Amino acid sequence: YWLKVLEGQQRHGMKVLVVERDPTYSQASTVLSMGGIRQQFSLPENIRMSRFSTSFLRNINEYLGVPNEPPIDIQYQPSGYLFLASQQRAAGLEANVRLQREEGVQVALLSPTQLKEKFPWIDTEDVAVASYGLEDEGWFDPWTLLNAFRRKAMSLGVYSCTGEVRGFVTTADDIMPPQGPSPSSARIKYIHIHKQDSLEYQPVACAIVVNAAGAWAGNLLELAGVPRGLLQPPLPIQPRKRYVFSWHCPDGPGLSCPFVIDTTGAYFRRDGIAGNYLGGMSPPEEDEPDPDDLSVDHDYFQERLWPQLARRVPAFESLRPRGAWAGYYDYNTFDQNGVLGPHPKLENLFLAAGFSGHGLQHAPAAGLAVAELLVKGQYESLDLQRLGWRRLLEGEPLKEDAVV
Ligand SMILES: Cc1cc2nc3c(=O)[nH]c(=O)nc-3n(C[C@H](O)[C@H](O)[C@H](O)COP(=O)(O)OP(=O)(O)OC[C@H]3O[C@@H](n4cnc5c(N)ncnc54)[C@H](O)[C@@H]3O)c2cc1C
Repeated sequence: YWLKVLEGQQRHGMKVLVVERDPTYSQASTVLSMGGIRQQFSLPENIRMSRFSTSFLRNINEYLGVPNEPPIDIQYQPSGYLFLASQQRAAGLEANVRLQREEGVQVALLSPTQLKEKFPWIDTEDVAVASYGLEDEGWFDPWTLLNAFRRKAMSLGVYSCTGEVRGFVTTADDIMPPQGPSPSSARIKYIHIHKQDSLEYQPVACAIVVNAAGAWAGNLLELAGVPRGLLQPPLPIQPRKRYVFSWHCPDGPGLSCPFVIDTTGAYFRRDGIAGNYLGGMSPPEEDEPDPDDLSVDHDYFQERLWPQLARRVPAFESLRPRGAWAGYYDYNTFDQNGVLGPHPKLENLFLAAGFSGHGLQHAPAAGLAVAELLVKGQYESLDLQRLGWRRLLEGEPLKEDAVV
């Protein structure tokens, strides 16, 4: 979408092809996410992406509306995010809030007493301080956003192809004997697309390739048939399975319920207005579930999540589980942040992946930023250089504190 918008300004006449292996998006993180958008991050880049995305979503019909098509309603619920911090994490939360305010975010710090006054259904024991977003936070329907982007992109002349990208043919293939030393850089000449039920690859010549394969971005590079030496450092993005559970609790927090991030890492939010809730919790590293499939471990809810929910919101003791699904976090094992921008060795490969659980809300901003890099050769609207490959090359993680 953004490439076509920027092309319109510069009249390049570029052809844009989106390759998607699953037109139903059955495993795409986007549609399996919680739909949350928040301003409460610890990195200026993440805050700025959220601020841009909020304004984009607020004016979505100006960006993504298509003449003679129904207007877009992303069902935005501006209910805010509420982060709870224990004594141990209080200073970190307060530092984050200082930065957020410097970035223009409206966020309140609440003492336990203020917290109890505002949200009487919370048990404030062991909460030292809380931060509550006063505007531009909440959740929306991810499907609607995905479809709106897709519909608009197609209307602007973007091509789409159903198939799996399985390989890159690079200039290294022209010059290197298979067993020879790796060149220090190369360009991708063709991508190989595998179409279901076909025995052949479809080669597509390309000037620029953007790897936006989400949780599979690292795997795609690994298996693309590119000489090993050109893949250093490896892209540290892996699929990590995360569960979302749904429950009913007529006596629960009700309409005042924001997107709550507990001191334990458990999180929940309201789902509609009929006493339903959604929530989850990332497991500790050593308990990561097997990512081979998207089956749900219901014991995880019973044994791990529910006790935390009931401790924080006593009314949740009597909740009734309704259902669950699993999706993949596009997990960057290096520093849990997106990797954006040009690959250090494959000169015409750009990355936009690895957002580690906060990529839905950053999609409008990340898309614009990467499109600017491609079309204008530099970031203009948002400077996301620090989210580039350099940090991987230099071994300098750019940590985001507020990863859920
Ligand atoms: C349970 C859960 C809750 C979340 N909650 C939130 C939230 O509240 N807020 C938020 O901002 N983010 C959230 N996220 C994270 C967010 O969903 C992701 O960061 C974001 O959707 C990533 O978008 P993407 O387009 O990069 O990846 P995806 O949406 O996964 O899209 C990648 C696409 O690439 C396709 N693909 C992969 N490999 C190939 C290939 N070789 N060839 C062709 N196609 C390929 C896949 O089929 C897929 O459709 C959550 C994620 C999960 C799992």
